[in-house]
Amino acid sequence: MKYVYFFGSGKAEGNGEMKEVLGGKGAGLAEMTRIGLPVPDGFTISAEACDYYFKHDRKYPKELTAQVQANLTRLEKATGKKLGDPFDPLLVSVRSGSARSMPGMMETILNLGLNSKSVEGLAKRTGNERFAYDAYRRFVQMYSTVVMGLPKDDLEEKLRQLKDRLNIKDDTRIPAEHLKSLVDDYKQFYEAKSGKSFPEGPADQLWGAIAAVFESWMGEKAVTYRRVEKITGLLGTAVNVVQMVFGNTGENSGTGVCFTRDPSTGERDFFGDFLINAQGEDVVAGIRTPMPLREMSNRMPKVYKQLENVRKTLERHYRDMQDLEFTVEDGKLYMLQTRTGKRSPAATFRIAMDMANEGLITREQAIERIQPDDIERLFYPVIAPSTKREDLAKRKIATGVNAVPGAAGGKAVFTAHEAEDWASRGEKVILVRRETSPEDVGGMHVAQGILTATGGKTSHAAVVARGWGKCCIVGCEVLEIDYSKKLMHVDGRTISQGDWLTLDGSEGAVYEGQIELARPEPPKAYSVVMGWADDIRKLRVRTNADTPFDARRAREMGAEGIGLCRTEHMFFKDFEQPEKSVERQLAIQEMIIADTRESRQKALDKLLPFQRRDFIGIFEAMNGLPVTIRLIDPPLHEFVPHERKQQEDLARKIGVPVEKVIRRVEQLHEANPMLGHRGCRLAITFPEILEMQVRAIIEAAIECQGRGVKVFPEIMHPLTMAKREMEILEEATRRVADRIISERKVKLQYLVGTMIELPRAALIADQIAEIAQFFSFGTNDLTQTTMGLSRDDAGRFLPEYVDEKKTGIFAADPFQTLDQEGVGMLIRWAIERGRKTRPGLKVGICGEHGGDAQSVKFCHRVGMNYVSASPFRVPISQLAAAQAVIEDKAARESGKRAKARD
Ligand code: ADP
Ligand code: MG
Ligand code: MG
Repeated sequence: MKYVYFFGSGKAEGNGEMKEVLGGKGAGLAEMTRIGLPVPDGFTISAEACDYYFKHDRKYPKELTAQVQANLTRLEKATGKKLGDPFDPLLVSVRSGSARSMPGMMETILNLGLNSKSVEGLAKRTGNERFAYDAYRRFVQMYSTVVMGLPKDDLEEKLRQLKDRLNIKDDTRIPAEHLKSLVDDYKQFYEAKSGKSFPEGPADQLWGAIAAVFESWMGEKAVTYRRVEKITGLLGTAVNVVQMVFGNTGENSGTGVCFTRDPSTGERDFFGDFLINAQGEDVVAGIRTPMPLREMSNRMPKVYKQLENVRKTLERHYRDMQDLEFTVEDGKLYMLQTRTGKRSPAATFRIAMDMANEGLITREQAIERIQPDDIERLFYPVIAPSTKREDLAKRKIATGVNAVPGAAGGKAVFTAHEAEDWASRGEKVILVRRETSPEDVGGMHVAQGILTATGGKTSHAAVVARGWGKCCIVGCEVLEIDYSKKLMHVDGRTISQGDWLTLDGSEGAVYEGQIELARPEPPKAYSVVMGWADDIRKLRVRTNADTPFDARRAREMGAEGIGLCRTEHMFFKDFEQPEKSVERQLAIQEMIIADTRESRQKALDKLLPFQRRDFIGIFEAMNGLPVTIRLIDPPLHEFVPHERKQQEDLARKIGVPVEKVIRRVEQLHEANPMLGHRGCRLAITFPEILEMQVRAIIEAAIECQGRGVKVFPEIMHPLTMAKREMEILEEATRRVADRIISERKVKLQYLVGTMIELPRAALIADQIAEIAQFFSFGTNDLTQTTMGLSRDDAGRFLPEYVDEKKTGIFAADPFQTLDQEGVGMLIRWAIERGRKTRPGLKVGICGEHGGDAQSVKFCHRVGMNYVSASPFRVPISQLAAAQAVIEDKAARESGKRAKARD
């Protein structure tokens, strides 16, 4: 089996498609080599070797030793140098890299091949002793921490003390002889801690490094990162062994990280950080503050031009924004990495739109690039525009680098552990660190926002936070953080753990105290790309809204009607006149307590005007669009008080003895209310409730129509399961509605339909469709009843069913993502049978699944007319609906191609 892939002098055994095997980094290096970009030579040990290693008790596959040796020899030939050569040594980096980018989560070792002899050779050949020993001390430091697992801080501390002693700020100014003694110091530390001498033999070093990179795949921080990011199914990490090029040989050298477009805004700026006379990780680690890439055009104009060309080539090649790492050695440019760049949600839209307009990708590809997350994150909060300027100015305590936009507020904490602790208690936190490192990922993830004292836009904190779209400010150098006291000094003030901070990641501003946040206006690119999606999609997207306020908001988000208006919510609360809520509640409670038809009717008469007013508000908000109104659904016991004190209260207010209230509440008790007296079963036993609700709907519709509002009411009966049941409901509905319509001498179109949320209803959908004019799948209940799972109780065991490692019984929580296999089969069946009886049957879905992208795609495939989602998820469903069309088309085309091949 082939485990090692060479790349060098314009040729590569691997290529960009081989991410699974070579890892993203290895695939990128191979691809860049193939397309003629300047890449140092090297080879990649495949992730398959890593997989083997962990599956076989940490043993390498037997072919590996010989393959690595052969490729090393080939590398030595290509470069004309030998690993460990005392006169002109080949040095290599040993770099991790998996199929999915995991920034900084795994290990890399630079300058491998140096020992006490070859360092002298390197010094002589380059005539630069300082450089040679700088490279050596970096190697010893990295090897000690990465391979031997010695504490990084101790070694850093030694370097800091040396700089203090010499009164030097900048690493590059430390003279060679001091670096030499620092190396000795490091080696002694290594011996003392590990009981072994520091390895001199290059082969020992190489294999030590390979093992360490493999091990880093299972390191705690990498495992945590994969868990947080839900990364599964990868083989492991590849290992890239690459000839070293040196950015630390002097003023004509340097190293940088850049993005082919601005990862925050998406603008077409070449964007990045650059450090003169430095080696790779210096930029990312945020130890020295780098200069903006633009500066490089002044300092190294020729190399900058070359880099500009690389940028163009790579964008044209990958047709996406790339994140690049490069090094300049004595005026010569080398590319060390390329990958698809992480970006803010705003940038995602901007880049997709621009690239489509530039002809780099099609509009369909632009739509496919947007993820549901991007939309959600686009609407992350900003500082409320109503906030007074003076107030902001007074509270502002610092400004840092605006790494990830959006605003966030929370209590200051200074360690990742603390952040996790506080967050688990339900607190909102802002994680404040000097810098972050991969160990901090768990805490970063739970924080509302991240603030660091050092680092640039490509630092660890910035890159990780950007991936999550989490507000982040870095390089805020004025913060004086005292970890031991859990506080920081800034701007003459002291912020202690637990004090509230507000961050504005767009401005880089840090504020003391709590400031109101608001939802932002989406950028232009958002409307453009969503417009393209609208042109493509076939599914309509409606919303679930119970109040005129929600209805208006959903309409702004692009909702094309209401797919579910839950009338019972109106019983609890008066949204327009909150002070009237109590009156409403009383009326419904009185109706429930009533034991005669007359007294029930009296209570219902009180409710009628309330309901009518609510419907008027909703019809007005949805002028011109359909509104599906579901009649009362929950069991009645949900509306009455269960505590003695409140029961007494109620009895007094409606003028009945308290015993009567208590008796009625007891009567209403059910062992299993989810399967009990609810849904249309209420309308069957208490037809007067149905009558009141239908009357309210129809009178509201007529009134609106009279004022020129276009209304399309759809009256929906929940939880039906039999044809006769549906007949009774429909007949009662039409009797009331048609009488009012004829009395008022008006014309009004309305539909009567049903929810399909019981397996029985789905199975006999052909019969139900004889009466129902539309179906709306209530997939929350349909999931519960099909799977025999109670959503309220499933929390005890469902996580185990969904956990891939534990059981993997289901791929996802069926209440979040529709179970297409089981519940989906009922849906397909019901649509097919329903439309056999009634060809034009209108079909939709309401419930949480209407806002879940995977489920929406399913709804498209089974031929629904619309989905209904909560207001904020409307755009997510619109996008998913368009993506479904694109995926459909691609599947059909590849099907056609397969047929043609046969
Ligand atoms: P990460 O995956 O954490 O980005 P890398 O393997 O890319 O780790 O290495 C980190 C940095 O080390 C790179 O950005 C680069 O600057 C430097 N580096 C890696 N390999 C080489 C090399 N062969 N020559 C010079 N610098 C290198
Ligand atoms: Mg890198
Ligand atoms: Mg239901």
